[in-house]
Amino acid sequence: MCDTVEYPGQYRGTRRRNFLKLAGAATVVGLGVGPLLSTQARADALTKAQRDSMTPKQIVDAMKHGNARFQRGERKARDYLREQRASAAGQYPAAVLLSCIDSRAPAEVIMDLGIGDVFNCRVAGNIENSDILGSMEFACKLSGAKVVVVMGHTACGAIKGAIANAELGNLTGLLDKIKPAVEATKYDGERTATNYDFVDAVSRKNVELTIANIREHSPVLAELETNGTIEIVGAMYNLKTGAVTFFD
Ligand SMILES: [Zn+2]
Repeated sequence: MCDTVEYPGQYRGTRRRNFLKLAGAATVVGLGVGPLLSTQARADALTKAQRDSMTPKQIVDAMKHGNARFQRGERKARDYLREQRASAAGQYPAAVLLSCIDSRAPAEVIMDLGIGDVFNCRVAGNIENSDILGSMEFACKLSGAKVVVVMGHTACGAIKGAIANAELGNLTGLLDKIKPAVEATKYDGERTATNYDFVDAVSRKNVELTIANIREHSPVLAELETNGTIEIVGAMYNLKTGAVTFFD
């Protein structure tokens, strides 16, 4: 009976493609990343050669293009089983993401990424700590990822909690790490958790401060950024529009 069950994701998976793989292939043949390659069927995971051939900017562009597809309701044809098998012996992710646990903001889905494309750290409010930094250092220094993305999102519950001084078990300490962003946000209107305009302004400031903290608390990542090996970028995901906006 199980053989006859067709899961929606399984069905879609047969038609998806690995965007970052295409981006790497595009670089190799000098075509750039674009719709020209959209008919090319590639299903394996990102290889080391492909990842290494991409610049940080090309990797960010690949994520932007993936989000554009997501907003259009399109996806690259992708075979998760092939990606899983191809990546089982080794992984060569192009980026490491730090994003919120919010169930509505799954980075791989909203940027149309596949197995082996990116490392993904998720914690409420996308704040950094020593374990997150250790994960990022592994991703970039040891594994070769070239981009660090810190992605906040609109209407974030953790940001609301920090604004409202919510207290609950271990959550209290986590929210304390967001409170500097509440303080640092310049905003003339109502500074409450029910004013989503303010909540989103704090969320953006929280991304900026998290990036500053990453640079300050991780000399390993700061050095990689200074010498041009990696780029550290901020982004905000809009729950209503589906758009990921990268900071300039
Ligand atoms: Zn959130």
